[in-house]
Amino acid sequence: MENYFRKDRSKILLTDANIIATNIANYMDDKNKFDYEIEKKSEEGGYRIIVFDTMGTVINDSNKSDIGKIYIIPEVIDTLKKKDHTVLRKKERRFYSCASILNQKSEKIGAVLIVSSAEEIFSVLDEIRKKLFLITIFTCAIIFVLAFFIANLIMEPLKKILAVLEKISAGQLDQRIEIKNKNEFAQLASSFNKMTNKLAQIENTREEFVSNVSHELKTPLSAIKVLTESMLNEKDIPLDIYREFLSDINSEIDRMTNIVNDLLTLVKLDKKRFPLNISDTNLNNMLENIIKRLTPLADKKNIELEFTCNKNIILQADEMKLSLAISNLIDNGIKYTPSGGKVKINIDSDENFAYITVQDNGIGINESEQEKIFERFYRIDKTRDRETGGTGLGLSITNSTIIMHNGNIKLTSDEGLGTTFVITIPLKCAKQNM
Ligand code: ATP
Ligand code: MG
Repeated sequence: MENYFRKDRSKILLTDANIIATNIANYMDDKNKFDYEIEKKSEEGGYRIIVFDTMGTVINDSNKSDIGKIYIIPEVIDTLKKKDHTVLRKKERRFYSCASILNQKSEKIGAVLIVSSAEEIFSVLDEIRKKLFLITIFTCAIIFVLAFFIANLIMEPLKKILAVLEKISAGQLDQRIEIKNKNEFAQLASSFNKMTNKLAQIENTREEFVSNVSHELKTPLSAIKVLTESMLNEKDIPLDIYREFLSDINSEIDRMTNIVNDLLTLVKLDKKRFPLNISDTNLNNMLENIIKRLTPLADKKNIELEFTCNKNIILQADEMKLSLAISNLIDNGIKYTPSGGKVKINIDSDENFAYITVQDNGIGINESEQEKIFERFYRIDKTRDRETGGTGLGLSITNSTIIMHNGNIKLTSDEGLGTTFVITIPLKCAKQNM
């Protein structure tokens, strides 16, 4: 702004100086006219006018004070030597505008200097400066207040999340964040809530698992306890009763061993540290071996095992684990099919997948139970299964194994008609998931 004012004023003053210089060039010899012209112009313009000859001597001055003095100031010297120009002397707060006087032959015969106060401009500038300062302070204050509110607005939901996080870390897994609107924080809160749900679910499963394990182990233990106590308390028990009791104890111990072994298998499957031992596996051979192993069991219950395959299937798998997983399915087929029934096993494949189907015409599984049977320790009819000796871990082992092989297991079942399990496993196991 200062620049603008300076240039604008300089231009006006230089024009004035030029006009005066042209006017007085004609009547510099006529003193009265000369003085009158200078006074008049000085009054009109509100500035002091000084006229010099070529030597820098003052020949006229609207203030009358300096006539006859020699001025050696840069503005005058420059104008006489070079060209007209205006300068703002900031310290004095004055403009010095100087134009040369030319005669008819265009020779320099002197110079006109206008000395004009720049006070007006500076006071305007000072005023603007003051106002700008106030505006700046005011704006800063507004920005500060706004920033404070916005920061609070952002921090508020974060604080809530933090508070809930603290409680969760302290073990209160039932904590959830209230979601009111639909912004990013709401999304964060919703993901957070999902995570806490998952945590709570894991915690639940863990508690359930521990209580199931304890329960499962407690039953055979109390049976053993009862048997030994009765042996200790009774005197003179016949040897065959002893034998019977001991054989009962022995079978309870077997049962516990089975549970512990199954649990160990599950833990191993859960831990990613125990990678699958993948190798090219002949599925046909594997099933033939399984069936050979299970045939005595099936024969005992008078159940027919039927194995069909129409091609040779080689897939990449952990032979031991997959074999156990399929055995569990066939074992279930035998266990949950009444005497005289049939368990059909079929293997097939396409370009990418191998399919293993185990179908029985046994008791079937109610639709509401179908999801649950893969859970650990889940058995549909607890009393019945105590007789069959199952731990309820077989299908969880099978399911975990198939998932580790990047496959899936599906079942269809009708109560009273039978059950069909279909395992789908990629022929080439994606090892990065192991
Ligand atoms: P385990 O296999 O550990 O000895 P289990 O056979 O009882 O014990 P799972 O194999 O996990 O346990 O099966 C869970 C439950 O699902 C079984 O108790 C049974 O009630 C039901 N089930 C499994 N397979 C069949 C089937 N083919 N027909 C009917 N019910 C079945
Ligand atoms: Mg089973």
